[in-house]
Amino acid sequence: MPEVLRGTGVSPGVAAGPVRSMSGAVPEPPADQRHAGDAHAERARALAALDAVGADLEERGAQAGGEAQDVLAAQAMMARDPGLAGLVTDRIDDGLSAPRAVYEAFGVFRAALSRAGEYMAARVADLDDVRDRAVAVLLGVGAPGVPDSDEPFVLVARDLAPADTALLDPAKVLAFVTRDGGPTSHTAILARAMGVPAVVACGDCMDLRDGTIVLVDGASGEVRPDPTEQVIADAHAAAGARAAALDVTTGPGATADGHRMPLLANIGGPKDVEAALACGAEGVGLFRTEFLFLGRTTAPSEEEQESAYRAVLEAFPSVVVRTLDAGADKPLAFLPPPDDEPNPALGERGLRLFDSHPGVLTGQLRALARAADGLDVALHVMAPMVADAAETRSFVAACRAAGLPRAGIMIEIPAAALRAADLAAEADFFSLGTNDLAQYAFAADRQIGGLARFQDPWQPALLDLVALAAGAATAAGKDCGVCGEAAGDPALACVLTGLGVTSLSMSARSLPLVRAAVAAHTLDQCRRAAEAARRATDADGARTAARAELPGLEPLSL
Ligand code: PEP
Ligand code: MG
Repeated sequence: MPEVLRGTGVSPGVAAGPVRSMSGAVPEPPADQRHAGDAHAERARALAALDAVGADLEERGAQAGGEAQDVLAAQAMMARDPGLAGLVTDRIDDGLSAPRAVYEAFGVFRAALSRAGEYMAARVADLDDVRDRAVAVLLGVGAPGVPDSDEPFVLVARDLAPADTALLDPAKVLAFVTRDGGPTSHTAILARAMGVPAVVACGDCMDLRDGTIVLVDGASGEVRPDPTEQVIADAHAAAGARAAALDVTTGPGATADGHRMPLLANIGGPKDVEAALACGAEGVGLFRTEFLFLGRTTAPSEEEQESAYRAVLEAFPSVVVRTLDAGADKPLAFLPPPDDEPNPALGERGLRLFDSHPGVLTGQLRALARAADGLDVALHVMAPMVADAAETRSFVAACRAAGLPRAGIMIEIPAAALRAADLAAEADFFSLGTNDLAQYAFAADRQIGGLARFQDPWQPALLDLVALAAGAATAAGKDCGVCGEAAGDPALACVLTGLGVTSLSMSARSLPLVRAAVAAHTLDQCRRAAEAARRATDADGARTAARAELPGLEPLSL
């Protein structure tokens, strides 16, 4: 094991603790795997495994309570289904091994569920999870999913799906380290929201053994196995001193010469409100509503949505809510895309999904209008993944019909930035989603760790697209914020200010650094930094050129 493992630091802070790995996919038992001849013993083994899985799921449900308990109880019933047991024993009687027999029996159920309509098809993932748990017991390998642990740990995984992380206990997770994922992957976004250090694209991390103590530095991207007590103490002291220096910066965002730059928070639901307020967010620039409903197999009721939205709208003077952005990196079981999409990131996702589920959009808009009713809040509603003026027009019309007066769009597709003037004529405001804009501009999937360099928001091509959209919005007299992760980089925040954007929205914990960086420069300096960055020919060149124009970053050691 090397002395230091290197990845991309995506959520600052340091933490040390024992590794717990998230076990990967359970292997499919070979199709010709047969038992040694004692069918009676093999049957007993298979049924005991299914029963153990059922009991384990019930126990987890009892611990979790609430809605998770219903989902886990339904899974426990699948494990104990007598029809399934019959299919298993038939196969064992034909000579198949217990793991293979269980695998095939679930396959029969799976095919039936897939054919049984949208709601049942959404249960397939739950069924696969039960199958993997039973096969894992029989093969003697770890069960899939986030590990259980009584003590806090550093979670190491290939990657984390939003559904894995939704149920994480923040008190237990000291840091995240993943082999895949880039700076804008949902592991990164979640880690920043939780205030937990995280390193992604760390190629060797799956070689770390469970129990090894590691020191994770979420700023530098270093993961150090078996650090000495002194190394851990030094790292904590340095991180603490930096955080203390920044804690003193509060107040509305503005450049040194008073040009206002509202600093807003990206949130995933009411649970993030407290941190946003504590970090001095002036409002919410991106409320990712799909985060409220991850792991749900049925659409949330309008009443349930209304109460979640109201809890956020009550807390801020201004909130930008994004309608459900399902698909690709943010799958929602109750809004599934067509089965056979070869490239989900280029498929029916975001706003496009509502073409086949129009009622979900109108329901969400109605719930939003009701949630804001009677509150003193400027509610802005925007759609993700908008491609052209026609989509903009129909989304704005849907908002107006629901009584929502401020309707905007995210600029995440290069075509939308290129023709931003057409879209600005239809929308009330823009918000630049630089994460997806980079993904689509560079044709590089944001979830692939090996392509993380294409997610670097300093790339001059991305800055050009930002300039185009901001320029068109200014010409039309409309606001154009940035809510992608680019806004949380202090130097880049100054460049974005110079490019003409009108607000910056980011993970709450990035706000103090960005506030300090913007306050340390004049608008003219920001403009010069933006011009210098766009003259560069690559991301590193842009970063260096911009920093040379931003002398105020040095005293802040940013
Ligand atoms: C983006 O794409 O930049 C964005 C803010 O949206 P998300 O990261 O949720 O796709
Ligand atoms: Mg996006």
